[in-house]
Amino acid sequence: MAGAGARSLPSDRVGLAMQRIAAWHAAPDSAVACPVCDAQGLTVLDRSARPYAEWYVLVCNACGLEHTLQIPMAPLTPPIE
Ligand SMILES: [Zn+2]
Repeated sequence: MAGAGARSLPSDRVGLAMQRIAAWHAAPDSAVACPVCDAQGLTVLDRSARPYAEWYVLVCNACGLEHTLQIPMAPLTPPIE
């Protein structure tokens, strides 16, 4: 069940959200647009557990988006056959 008012990220916006996070990394001081409603001022919280995975919490006050996005990191060592 979804929490009251909170919206999660639609699956077709995940790629866009990752682009917005990449832009945020490149310029952390500039405003980030929400991947759902395109409003400026998306809040991005880095909750990464490096080196295993990157976790970002995306919060948009304009549309009520509140979503945790996990980006698995590439393994540092090749897989063992
Ligand atoms: Zn939004």
